[in-house]
Amino acid sequence: MKRNLIINFHVVNDAVWFESVILLLKAKYTLVHLSFFENSNNYEKGKGFCHISFDDGDQTFYTVAYPILKKHDVPATLFVSPKSAIRRENFWFQEVTGYDNNKMITILSRELSLPIKTIHEIPFFDIMLCLPLIRIQEIITFYQKETDTLPKHCQNMSLDEILEVEKSGLITVGAHTLNHPILKNENDEICHNEITGSIIELQKLLGHKVSYFAYPNGMPYLDFGEREINCLMNNNIIIAVSTEAKFISKHDNKLTLPRLGLSYGSMRFVELKLILGANWEKIKSLKSHSESKNRQKITSLLEKVRKNEMK
Ligand SMILES: [Zn+2]
Repeated sequence: MKRNLIINFHVVNDAVWFESVILLLKAKYTLVHLSFFENSNNYEKGKGFCHISFDDGDQTFYTVAYPILKKHDVPATLFVSPKSAIRRENFWFQEVTGYDNNKMITILSRELSLPIKTIHEIPFFDIMLCLPLIRIQEIITFYQKETDTLPKHCQNMSLDEILEVEKSGLITVGAHTLNHPILKNENDEICHNEITGSIIELQKLLGHKVSYFAYPNGMPYLDFGEREINCLMNNNIIIAVSTEAKFISKHDNKLTLPRLGLSYGSMRFVELKLILGANWEKIKSLKSHSESKNRQKITSLLEKVRKNEMK
């Protein structure tokens, strides 16, 4: 029996690679709009159905991926922040990409009172994933001041570009919060504003209802939980997608549909990943310093610091 799945892309720099992936997917699956997965009865038919999605609205969607999707008539969903599109600002993780690891670890250790000996082997990015957005922005400001680093040019699509691709009828636009926080790290008010604000703003810009949402970073329990799911329900979101690498089963909650991420590799590798599905993540997590282990470690260290400060 063929499997059903949603694929997740972020940045697509290589047009040749991307077109090969699209052709591979076209050969293996029926490529459908995301609305197809609204009704579980649709995918009990035993065929393999696949939907393609893109998070963040990176420029390369417009310049590289979109022309290829159009050429092969492949529908896709693009999850964006209305704030980034209007204000032309990068998300924090785009801003810190390429930052010097040692310098970042020094700042994080100093600002969060974390012992440098314990954190120096952890990638700074994994530590940032444990912080609320306000702390993340402070750390970025420190780095920029102390290293004379200027903010980068915005690497996300403009509103005009988003409206243009949506007009094609091939691309559906979904919400992805305003500032791409790790929702689990935020208080109730910020979580609500990030989710509801992004949906309402996007609806205004697009001129119609927004029915789909992608959780930032997207790992269930680590990045979002019941609170976020309830908030999406209150906003009448029909489908929300995570980054849990699994095939779709008819029993899945529509507000936590899994997705398999693709970003690189030969077509043999991509094909293997498509076959392995959930098992791929299991193989990856055998590596001792995986992101989730690092985050657990940092979260418990931060908790200790907080308790000491309260004494
Ligand atoms: Zn994202």
